[in-house]
Amino acid sequence: MFNKVLIANRGEIALRIHRACKELGISTVAVHSTADENAMHVRLADESVCIGPPAPKDSYLNIPAIISAAEITEADAIHPGYGFLSENARFAEIVKAHNITFIGPDAEHIRVMGDKIAAKEAVGQAGIPLVPGSEGALLSYEQAQEAAEEIGYPVLVKAAAGGGGRGMKLAKTPADLAEALSTAKTEAKAAFGDDAVYLEKYLEFPRHIELQIIADSHGNVVQLGERDCSLQRRNQKVLEEALSPALDDKERAKIGETVRKAIEKIGYLGAGTIEFLYENGEFYFIEMNTRLQVEHPITEQVTRTDLVREQILVAAGNKLSMKQEDVVFKGHAIECRVNAENPKTFRPSPGEITQFHAAGGPGVRFDSAVYTGYKIPPYYDSMIGKLIVYGDDRAHCIARLRRALSEMVFVGVETTVPLFMDLVDDPDFQKGDYHIHWLEEWLAKS
Ligand code: ADP
Repeated sequence: MFNKVLIANRGEIALRIHRACKELGISTVAVHSTADENAMHVRLADESVCIGPPAPKDSYLNIPAIISAAEITEADAIHPGYGFLSENARFAEIVKAHNITFIGPDAEHIRVMGDKIAAKEAVGQAGIPLVPGSEGALLSYEQAQEAAEEIGYPVLVKAAAGGGGRGMKLAKTPADLAEALSTAKTEAKAAFGDDAVYLEKYLEFPRHIELQIIADSHGNVVQLGERDCSLQRRNQKVLEEALSPALDDKERAKIGETVRKAIEKIGYLGAGTIEFLYENGEFYFIEMNTRLQVEHPITEQVTRTDLVREQILVAAGNKLSMKQEDVVFKGHAIECRVNAENPKTFRPSPGEITQFHAAGGPGVRFDSAVYTGYKIPPYYDSMIGKLIVYGDDRAHCIARLRRALSEMVFVGVETTVPLFMDLVDDPDFQKGDYHIHWLEEWLAKS
């Protein structure tokens, strides 16, 4: 087992990783920018190293500074968390070249899954259902026209290197195709330095359903069921639930086994998420994330597992502590992403939290790094905590969520808590009757 882990991240996820390390008897090293000197992840870690000025490119994305921090503190592993360097294949390689363990998959798997065309090919060959689309990158307008006719309109032009919804353009009819193609290419070139694009059938009202997997280096792959992340605003997840209200046990078992077998074939190591769009009873792969997800705690609640602990165990060469037959789904869990933003305009609201109180009681978990007197810096993501609520079933979970939301206190900054208080009372939400465009429609009405 590792003696010391460097946590290459900040905020709630740095704290989450620190907690898992401490429970395994591992010392922790926090890295931080000058803006995060007083952050909770720095205060709780056994050691800390300042790695640069506030801008992420100079600190949390600064590979040489992070490697130096690991070397001077003699850390034997690095956990990247999510975001920042977590899906940077080059970083994983550099870490390994310094004889430090990267807590994550092989660099090669990160690279393949980071290229959407290569990812589709790899998982498609392993038996995962895909969105009908063009074979590989589009080389000409004529080729795009032909592919679109075959797939049927509407079609979506997507960037191979895409992320965060950029480089994605809809063509409703043949007349839109030329423009969609050129804008997607220009956007992809500017954002990712790579203008390779491909075509996919555009699904009108799907749900976003993703499966959590984890694998060790002894050939064991376990799937931990799905999360429904359909409630999104501008392609950003807002509230997630496990399990999905849209699947029955039979569908769940079927897709779970398909994914488990595929991941076994791919020979993947560590935690990963296979994202699907789901419409009319069919699953369509969109991408694989080769890291821990923000919303991992809801899976932990319904499967009674600790995913970060398992990530560390398997990275150190141990076997997973559970087998597939040990995974039994129980109850229901919901996560609300609490952002420091105006709940109507979504304008960021950085500044000092002059008073803070977190909800508690049965079935309530608040993963956060804030405290009374904490100053939210303006340089990073506005998510300041995740309210995770567990109940015996979905109705119980929603009742608890309403109760927990009413206990949350933030003074000094605006948060999205009021949005969730309205959302829990919506009849469609209560029925679990929604799709990926539902939340934006609901926000426009309210
Ligand atoms: P990114 O990596 O840029 O986030 P994804 O492929 O994960 O791109 O897609 C992001 C979101 O875009 C999805 O959650 C979904 O809302 C929408 N989307 C992607 N592909 C399709 C599709 N074929 N049809 C309809 N919507 C899509």
